[in-house]
Amino acid sequence: MVASQEVHAPIAVYPGSFDPIHLGHVAIVDRAKKLFPRVIVAVLANNEKNALFTPEERLEMMNELWAGDERVEVRSFQGLLVKFLEEISSTIVIRGIRAVSDFEYEFMMALMNRRLSPEVETVFLTPKEDYTYLSSRVVKEVVSLGGDVTGLVPEPVRLRLEERYREATHPPTS
Ligand code: ADP
Repeated sequence: MVASQEVHAPIAVYPGSFDPIHLGHVAIVDRAKKLFPRVIVAVLANNEKNALFTPEERLEMMNELWAGDERVEVRSFQGLLVKFLEEISSTIVIRGIRAVSDFEYEFMMALMNRRLSPEVETVFLTPKEDYTYLSSRVVKEVVSLGGDVTGLVPEPVRLRLEERYREATHPPTS
């Protein structure tokens, strides 16, 4: 007989810069939802000088995307991931591995996080095949050169990207 005790549904945390979110990320969240009842997509809000969108802008786009999905929450965090995990009582980290090139860094981070907090487990998920080559950097490069990223990022994100690069080429005159 199973003792009656409160069982906490595990919360999985999917951290990243998401500058901006693309459909490769969304596919990983969909996969994570098959394994965990709740997924927190966590935007690393460290001050990166080269970021295109502020952490607030990234959160806004992501909140819009998962509005109405009770199983996905979007949060931002600063500093060490293990501290954030502790704050929200989670021990599960989701990461995506696109290719061998991602492996070394991801493996190192997983081991470092485990060293910092031994209960933390990193779950690696494989990308949707169509998005294996997709990264935020490539998306930004394509849009900055006038290319079309329809079908690679959510539509509202595509519009914001195009607007951002239009502003950069033709800054509004005040
Ligand atoms: P990027 O700028 O490379 O898109 P992020 O730091 O925002 O990356 O990525 C967060 C996580 O999502 C990382 O684990 C990364 O490997 C994973 N990821 C990024 N792009 C994809 C993709 N196309 N398919 C699957 N996982 C991905």
